[in-house]
Amino acid sequence: MSTPLSLYDNYTRSLRPFAPLHPQSEVGVYTCGPTVYDYQHVGNHRTFLFEDLLKRVLVWNGHAVRHVMNITDVGHLTSDADTGEDKMEKGARRTGKTAWEIAALYTDAFLADFLLLNIDRPTVLCKATDHIAEQIAFIADIEKNGFAYRTSDGVYFDTSRQPGYGHLARLDVKGLEAGRRVDLGDKRHPTDFALWKFSAPGEHRQMEWDSPWGRGFPGWHIECSAMAQKYLGDLFDIHCGGEDHIPVHHTNEIAQTEARCGTRLANFWLHGYFLLQNDAKMAKSAGEFLRLQALIDRGYDPLAYRYLCLTAHYRSQLNFTWDALDAAATGLERMRAGVYAIRDAAAADADPAACARFTAEINDDLNLPRALAVAWEVLRGGLPDAVRRATLLRFDRVFGLRLADWAPRQDAIPPEIQALAESRLAARQAKQWPESDRLRAEIRARGWDIEDGAGGFALKRRG
Ligand code: AMP
Ligand code: ZN
Repeated sequence: MSTPLSLYDNYTRSLRPFAPLHPQSEVGVYTCGPTVYDYQHVGNHRTFLFEDLLKRVLVWNGHAVRHVMNITDVGHLTSDADTGEDKMEKGARRTGKTAWEIAALYTDAFLADFLLLNIDRPTVLCKATDHIAEQIAFIADIEKNGFAYRTSDGVYFDTSRQPGYGHLARLDVKGLEAGRRVDLGDKRHPTDFALWKFSAPGEHRQMEWDSPWGRGFPGWHIECSAMAQKYLGDLFDIHCGGEDHIPVHHTNEIAQTEARCGTRLANFWLHGYFLLQNDAKMAKSAGEFLRLQALIDRGYDPLAYRYLCLTAHYRSQLNFTWDALDAAATGLERMRAGVYAIRDAAAADADPAACARFTAEINDDLNLPRALAVAWEVLRGGLPDAVRRATLLRFDRVFGLRLADWAPRQDAIPPEIQALAESRLAARQAKQWPESDRLRAEIRARGWDIEDGAGGFALKRRG
C-alpha cells in the first residue's frame, strides 16, 4: 500500500488526508498570480514553484488537475488596507508607459520566467481586467444579500455581518475593533474592505469602468472570488498563495464567496512561506529585489534556483544567500552528471521500493527535501544502472529538473584534433578506408570520439 497524500490545510490548521471533491473529474486548484506592475522576484517564484510542485504531486497521485491562476492587472493598492495608489497606475508613472502596456510587459516577463524555471503553465490564466462584468455581478449579489454598504469613495464589505469572518487567519476581530488606531474614513469597521472604489472626482484613471454604483475600479480581492467561481465553481479543492495572503487577501476572498455562495471557496488552503533576503521578506515594494535574470547574469542555471527551493519545506521560510544558491547549483550539477553517466543504460522499470519511499515523502505534505534525499540514495546506491536511471527520471516528473535533457557542455576542441578529424573526412571522401581508420584510432587515443554524419563529423570528449 502506498502512502496516501496528506496536505496541511491552514483553514483547519491541520494535516488532512487529501480526497478530491469530485473523484470523477479534475482536481480544481486556484493560485493567486502576480501583480504585474513590476518584474517578479525570486521570492514570488518560490511560491509559484511550491504551487508547481503541488500540481506535480497531485499528478503523481493519479489526479488530473485544472489549475486557474489570475493576473492582477488592476485594483491592488499600495496598502493592503484599501488606501494608497493603484500599483498599476503608479508603475505606469514610474516607467512612462501606459498601465496597459506595463501589464502586458510584466505578464510576458513573468511567463518567460515560468519557462526558465520549468513551471507548468496553468490551465487557465485569467486577467482581472478581462473579468470586470463578473466582478460587478459578484458585488451586486453580495450587496443583495446584505453584506455591502456604500460610502463616499466606494462600496465596502461589512465584515460585522459575518460571525465567522477572519477564521482562516484566526483574526481577533473584536480586539482589532477595540484597538482601532487607523483613520477608517467612511469605513464602519477596521476589517471592512473595498469591493468597488470610485475614481476620485476630477481624477482620470487609465483603468476605470462604469458600474451600478459609479465609475471606478474593483477592489483587489473580488477578482479572485469572481474568477475562481467562474472557472472552478462555488467550492473547489485547493486554493494557494503566499503566506502574506492569509490575514487580508484570502480572508477577504473567503468572506466574499461565503456571502454570495455560502461556501468557504476551497476545501484546502495551502500557503507558501517567504523567501527572505537578509532575514526580511523579499518584496517588490521594498524597491531592491532579486529577479531571476540577476541569477542568470551571475552565471547560474535557473534550475539551480528550482533545486534550492526543493531543499526547503514550503512551510518554512528560506533565507536567500549566494552560498546557498552555490550549494544548490553544485547539487544539481552532480545529480545531472550522475544521470548523464548512466545515459546508455537499457530501458528498465523504476524500482518499486524506491518509488514507495519517494511517495511516502512527497505525500507527507510535499516533503521535497526528504524526497531529494531518496533520489540521492538511489543515485549512489547499488541498483543496476538501468533501474537507477529509470527511477530518477520518474522522480524528475515531480522535481522538474530536466535531468534527462542535460549533457555536459562540449569542451573546446583542440586545433590538432580538429585537423586530424578534417584529414579523416578527406580520407573518407576519397574512400581511403585504411587511412580513415588509422586517423580515427589516433583521435581516440588522444581522448576524443568522432561520429560521422551527413557530409561531416561531430567530436565528443571521451568518458
Ligand atoms: P504579488 O505579485 O505581490 O501579488 O505576489 C505574487 C505571489 O508571490 C503571491 O502568492 C505572494 O503571496 C507571493 N510572495 C510575495 N512575496 C514573497 C516572498 N518574499 N516569498 C515567497 N512568496 C512571496
Ligand atoms: Zn487572490
